[in-house]
Amino acid sequence: MATIIDGKALAAKVKEQVRQEAASLPRRPGLAVILVGDDPASRVYVNSKRKDCEECGFYSEEFALPASTKQEELLTLVGKLNGREDIDGILVQLPLPSGLDERAALLAIDPGKDVDCFHPYNVGRLTIGEPAFQPCTPGGVMEMLREYRIDPAGKKCVVLGRSNIVGKPMALLLLHAHGTVTICHSRTPDLAAECAAADILVSAVGKTGLITADMVKEGAVVIDVAMNRNAAGKLCGDVCFDEVREKASFITPVPGGVGPMTRAMLMRNTLTAAKNHQR
Ligand code: NAP
Repeated sequence: MATIIDGKALAAKVKEQVRQEAASLPRRPGLAVILVGDDPASRVYVNSKRKDCEECGFYSEEFALPASTKQEELLTLVGKLNGREDIDGILVQLPLPSGLDERAALLAIDPGKDVDCFHPYNVGRLTIGEPAFQPCTPGGVMEMLREYRIDPAGKKCVVLGRSNIVGKPMALLLLHAHGTVTICHSRTPDLAAECAAADILVSAVGKTGLITADMVKEGAVVIDVAMNRNAAGKLCGDVCFDEVREKASFITPVPGGVGPMTRAMLMRNTLTAAKNHQR
């Protein structure tokens, strides 16, 4: 029976460390969050980020713009925030309403304030193994592995999903930690066989019930990044938790696994940016 990796508890620990370090800085870290439109899920995420900032003793400012906002208005706001000394991190909540160019918005953020680690400059630094910031979700996964003394070195690591936000940076971090990494996606012919070979399996697909026990090696570490809603509207991951737990050595729950860690890593990145700005 697998040990459950408690993301909620670890996230609380990380945030407490961040709070203590932030308190020792001459100026408190500041995070600006831009929300365009009224997507309910995005609103929930933005509210959580404000709460996290309060817990960590950060200054936070929210910019709620109407869905009718023009690209130039968004870029002008980002430009102003780039120049503000009390703002260390800038986050544009994705997805943006149709008609707005996400790529241009992310490119406009000063890389030193790109606490989501989405700017191509920061992605490049991550690729060469010299990251300024940790990508929040994959960084949270690595923190969980460290906490539970799971070393990817020499292990076969299989990442399901190749998005820029999760799959690709996750694979890079595992590679930098000396794992032998396979990335799977919708064109992978035999997903079950790839999964069954994994010592560490990270699923970031977004399909409820995708990973069943027969696809998992005895004793594997199973990390479920997905945040799906099942037919009853309940939050769940890609992994059939109850049956896979019987076979795995470690497993993350959904909720209470990777989600809280993503939020904690954003706070850590904002602290890092603030330290850099106050050097
Ligand atoms: P995404 O951009 O939709 O990417 C999904 C990936 O899964 C794609 O690479 C896709 O392949 C692949 N895929 C789709 N069907 C597949 C299949 N049958 N077999 C293998 N691969 C398949 O999603 P994302 O933004 O990376 O997010 C993935 C999941 O993580 C979602 O559930 C999301 O809600 C969750 N998430 C959680 C957190 C957190 O903090 N816990 C943060 C971000 C995202 P192709 O590239 O070939 O289309």
